[in-house]
Amino acid sequence: MNPLFANLPTTVFEVMSSLARETGAINLGQGFPDDPGPEDVRQKAADAVLNGYNQYPSMMGIPELRSAIAAHYRHWQGVDLDPATEVMVTSGATEALAGAILGIVEPGDEVVLFEPMYDAYLPLVRLAGGVPKFVTLQPPHFRLTEEALAKAFSPKTKAVLLNNPLNPTATVFAPEDLTLLADFCRRFDAICISDEVWEHVVFDGRRHQPVLALPGMRERSVKIGSAGKIFSLTGWKVGFVCAAPHIMKVLAKSHQFLTFTTPPNLQVAVAYGLAKDDAYFDGMRRDFARSRDRFTAGLNTLGFDVIPSQGTYFVNIDIAPLGETDDVAFCRRLVTEHGVAAIPVSAFYAQGAVKNVVRFCFAKKDATLDAGLERLAKAL
Ligand code: PMP
Ligand code: GLN
Repeated sequence: MNPLFANLPTTVFEVMSSLARETGAINLGQGFPDDPGPEDVRQKAADAVLNGYNQYPSMMGIPELRSAIAAHYRHWQGVDLDPATEVMVTSGATEALAGAILGIVEPGDEVVLFEPMYDAYLPLVRLAGGVPKFVTLQPPHFRLTEEALAKAFSPKTKAVLLNNPLNPTATVFAPEDLTLLADFCRRFDAICISDEVWEHVVFDGRRHQPVLALPGMRERSVKIGSAGKIFSLTGWKVGFVCAAPHIMKVLAKSHQFLTFTTPPNLQVAVAYGLAKDDAYFDGMRRDFARSRDRFTAGLNTLGFDVIPSQGTYFVNIDIAPLGETDDVAFCRRLVTEHGVAAIPVSAFYAQGAVKNVVRFCFAKKDATLDAGLERLAKAL
């Protein structure tokens, strides 16, 4: 057996969701919304299944979807992508991440990782034989600093993995942090694998900044998105990857032996959905912002120390002021004794740097959030 997998713990999302199912707890842990997603998009998928979109589609994704992705990003982010050479459809952002890391990183290459990091990153970097170089971001601001980047980058740096907006901390990197990172990528000739799955869920007038649109980054960036996040259909696992043709050629090779392709019926529906008008996307953001405000206000009223959410559908609390030093133990107690599942953010730190932050998912109905808050009141 490969010890890399044999020795891996089960992902924290599965652990907490299983505990929530076993105990009947309100699940504010794993990030998934409890609304069914846009009905017209789901109807398109159902129609496509019945109308015969069920055989292997082309390896790079159906042309309608690749064009829709390019048009979507042109409209929302001002980037001009050639759907024929710079856009590929993957089976979720997870496959895009795996394909990019395996396609780009060679054994011995250094890969800069910002912790807290999404839990798939480190095992994939190790699988590729990459050497992780961690930059530890500290609560409550989780900022990039020149000093930390200077320590992490070296002539051996092949790639850096960025997630913006950042899951789990719900922060959106400041433009100057992204500029700083781009400077380092150019200086060290590194590729930025930019996980932007939360690109549409940014609050308070923020606009998403794709890394590949920064000066000099077009030829050294891989942009990753997910329809699961854009349409609150997390089980669909339709992802996208955008990159300059010389990078895309390699990513296509790794994709062909990871999944080769992605269900065509879902691709048809996502192509339709990406062309929805601004009102849909603005409305989605507004609805998430409203839930964020409701849940944040509830946590504040109870006396929790809230780290404000700038993007994603998560919000975090600092449990240190409660005298708590172990977020895993705190979350275990929360789910077994108080009936609320949450995610201990230490699961996203590889080196144990932070153990006092707990993440909640607020993409839930008001009644669910209110019931969760009622239970959290008893945990204080
Ligand atoms: N990256 C990040 C930062 C995520 O939060 C998620 C899912 N929550 C993914 C990747 C995986 O996306 P997908 O479900 O499309 O594979
Ligand atoms: N990305 C989701 C989250 O952060 C969970 C994805 C998963 O369960 N693997 O909660």
